[in-house]
Amino acid sequence: MQSKLLIDGELVEGDGERLDVIDPATGERIAQLAQASDEQVDAAARGAQEAFSEFAKTTPAARAALLLDIAEVIEQNAEELAALESLNVGKPWPSALDDEIPLTIDTFRFFAGAARTLSGVAAGEYVQGHTSMIRRDPLGPVAAIAPWNYPLMMAAWKLAAPLAAGCTVALKPSEVTPLSTLRLAELLKDRLPKGVLNVIHGPGQTVGDRLINAAGIEGVSITGSPATGSAAMRAAARELRQVHVELGGKAPVIVYADADIDKLVATLRGTAFFNAGQDCAQPCRLIVAASIYERVVAELADAVGRIRTGAPREPGTEMGPLVSAAHRQRVADFVERARAHAEVVTGGFSEDRPGFFYRPTVVANVDNHAEIATHELFGPVISVSRFNDDQDPIAIANAGRYGLASSVWTRDTATAMEATSRLRYGFTWVNSHGVATPEMPWAAMKGSGHGCDMSVFALDAYTSVRHVMFAHS
Ligand code: NAD
Repeated sequence: MQSKLLIDGELVEGDGERLDVIDPATGERIAQLAQASDEQVDAAARGAQEAFSEFAKTTPAARAALLLDIAEVIEQNAEELAALESLNVGKPWPSALDDEIPLTIDTFRFFAGAARTLSGVAAGEYVQGHTSMIRRDPLGPVAAIAPWNYPLMMAAWKLAAPLAAGCTVALKPSEVTPLSTLRLAELLKDRLPKGVLNVIHGPGQTVGDRLINAAGIEGVSITGSPATGSAAMRAAARELRQVHVELGGKAPVIVYADADIDKLVATLRGTAFFNAGQDCAQPCRLIVAASIYERVVAELADAVGRIRTGAPREPGTEMGPLVSAAHRQRVADFVERARAHAEVVTGGFSEDRPGFFYRPTVVANVDNHAEIATHELFGPVISVSRFNDDQDPIAIANAGRYGLASSVWTRDTATAMEATSRLRYGFTWVNSHGVATPEMPWAAMKGSGHGCDMSVFALDAYTSVRHVMFAHS
């Protein structure tokens, strides 16, 4: 198992403490990996800094070729990378291989094209006797921090856009799920110029914190929880760095009385429990028209009750374990507290087997302001509340602190148009939920962060707009 860090073009063992990496399906240790020492964190940042001036000069075409090469490396090693991902996160094998790896590869392929599309205001004489032109130059060396839920795909989101823009990167995957990213670093070692990509391992509070504050870093890009986003904003404020934060979510699913309930239930059964619900866009907070509420709850409870949990490689497994014992306990505690005022209609318990399995759960009769309706659980739990004719479901949804994903379910186009125009969420699906493509932004608002991953808009986070003016005489 690849355990080394990639620092300034060299694979090196970490000099810091050894951390356990756990198989969530069994609770057993897979490996013990040494984290980066302070000196190694600084060396990774320095490696990115020293490589920057040369890499920033590469042409978009050269960077596109490099990104296509990365995509090919992942494609050629898809089975091995998916196996590490499935083992480390507990993902059902078909999702790891057939859902996540293709999107990871396509992210690099998309940004290979996007690297060549930077645009700006036309050059011209905006002041008489002077010609102005706009440049979009790479931001600088970037400290990138990824979460544990989709380690490789999040690494792709954190790497492809900055590399496309001409930035160098020092990346820290989550200490909980480092295996696939460390292996990717090894695979890419000789494909990228020295120092363009650095990958280090270690906990957020120490290694991550040191990285985002390290000398030489000019951009900080974080996907993680709001607390980590705040840490990034503090570092950015102290050092005056550009920061890009994609944080947690609590996606409302607004279901009007004319919705296609069969399609809704089928979509939720798949999407809300994909990756055991550990997904920032998880459709987890249903706000349902009172007239169809009972039917939605009954059909959902039935469908969710039949989800098959199991080990990643067990044939027929639809949902694996949660990532850790602590995380499962956190999810279970939310459900226990909700019992006082709501009804658990299916699930609501840890499975009696090794590993960190929790039954897919639906909690009904939830007040719109209840903790379980407004806080991110990040687990296999859906809450269902209702709205009456005199209540505005959009206002209810907008009252939350988060602003990432949302969806609207109705057969009426005017209702959908009005709802989507008013929702204050970075993205909204209509009669669908969870479908993603690299061409379109994964955008955040409010407490979910700002800016976006994927799409040409993601390049904005990694470029600086510059104005150059020529005097004619
Ligand atoms: P987390 O915030 O605990 O950790 C994310 C990363 O940040 C890890 O690599 C961690 O080591 C690091 N980190 C933690 N504290 C840090 C600090 N002080 N300084 C620097 N780095 C630090 O999040 P998690 O538990 O790994 O992931 C779950 C969270 O991520 C959820 O809130 C989820 O919604 C969010 N998420 C958001 C998106 C999105 O696109 N918006 C995608 C995936 C996950």
